[in-house]
Amino acid sequence: MSHVFARHSKTDLRRASIGKGTYLYDADGKEYFDGSGGAAVSCLGHGDPDVIAAIQAQVAQLAYAHTSFFTSEPAEELADRLVAEAPGALDKVYFVSGGSEAVEAALKLARQYFVEIGQPERRHFVARRQSYHGNTLGALATGGNVWRKQAFAPIMVETSLISPCYAYRGQDEGESAFDYGQRVANELEEELQRLGPETVIGFVAEPVVGATLGAVPPVEGYFKRIREICDQYGILLILDEVMCGMGRTGTLFAHEQEGITADIVTIAKGLGAGYQPIGAMMCTDSIHQAIAEGSGFFQHGHTYIGHPTACAAGNAVLKKLTGGLVQRCAVMGEKLQSALQSEFGQHPHIGDVRGRGLFRGLEIVEDRATKKPFDPAKGINKTIKQTAMSNGLACYPMGGTVDGRQGDHVLLAPPFILEDHH
Ligand code: PLP
Repeated sequence: MSHVFARHSKTDLRRASIGKGTYLYDADGKEYFDGSGGAAVSCLGHGDPDVIAAIQAQVAQLAYAHTSFFTSEPAEELADRLVAEAPGALDKVYFVSGGSEAVEAALKLARQYFVEIGQPERRHFVARRQSYHGNTLGALATGGNVWRKQAFAPIMVETSLISPCYAYRGQDEGESAFDYGQRVANELEEELQRLGPETVIGFVAEPVVGATLGAVPPVEGYFKRIREICDQYGILLILDEVMCGMGRTGTLFAHEQEGITADIVTIAKGLGAGYQPIGAMMCTDSIHQAIAEGSGFFQHGHTYIGHPTACAAGNAVLKKLTGGLVQRCAVMGEKLQSALQSEFGQHPHIGDVRGRGLFRGLEIVEDRATKKPFDPAKGINKTIKQTAMSNGLACYPMGGTVDGRQGDHVLLAPPFILEDHH
């Protein structure tokens, strides 16, 4: 019996042993196609020699130096690269070890920004139902995933939650996609008015929703209206690209496709591509300046921020992404969508096939015509996961909600190096 504290204590997990290209192999040699890159992590696939070489070289030269004493070349280089590629005015990069840490840093930075500029009365965040922003208490509080939050609700700050932009279930009959997007975006304004806009710090959302809904992109115009409302009331727009960023949707940053700019953006998963645990929070120069010229100290930090080895991996990954792999993701994503449409588009239990790039979701329903989800107690998602695994496919199925606001879904996020035959 292993002494590892496994998350799933009632499931016997296979032991992963080797990763090669788009495949994982367990200790018995069984092969699995990595259909979701773990949780949209392994964008380069496994065993990439350039990333391995970059990590080895960095470990040999300088594995770690604490950021209270030193900066490092890989961190500076990675920040420059990210800023050069980022849309809008994102100008500073704060490196952490993963997605939840990136979101925590974003929430604290946003709050501290308003304290520094003399608006300490701002204390609320608005986010969306059916959202996930991480498992640490601050990030968890900001998400709307009831299943993940329930047990911890009494020890968390309350976040205001508005509707997600989820056309498959939210758009009314006879309503255009655009009008639907404006209607749900306007819920932000209503919520600001209810709370008192001068008490609100920011709005947090994933440009394309991953874990909770299964690769749901916004309808056209939704984020433009959200940006307008944020500007009108002076609140910050915080975009969580931990899952949908780093090329996953066919552009390096998912929100590029919305024609908007953000005040703070979080990234992780694909940045280290699974080779190193790394995430980052990016912000505009004006937010950074408020702190630099104010207290001069961001009241936040962890031991491993700006880790040189993790940043070296990030540099090697980003070089590959911007060197053609993001475009490949866009092209292969269209092929995947067509293949999924022709295979499952008319399937009696698939209600929707959606997504962008190599970030695709299938919503599983009991009844296609009425969109009725399966009873979550049936655990369809667990059955799919087990069946897929025994057939050599690792993919990411999630359960629906008891109130039917979403059905079970399967998230597909394969490595960008996949080939046509996959
Ligand atoms: N934000 C989003 C959108 C995510 O999908 C996740 C993880 O799935 C997180 C934050 C948390 O990231 P991590 O698990 O690396 O802490």
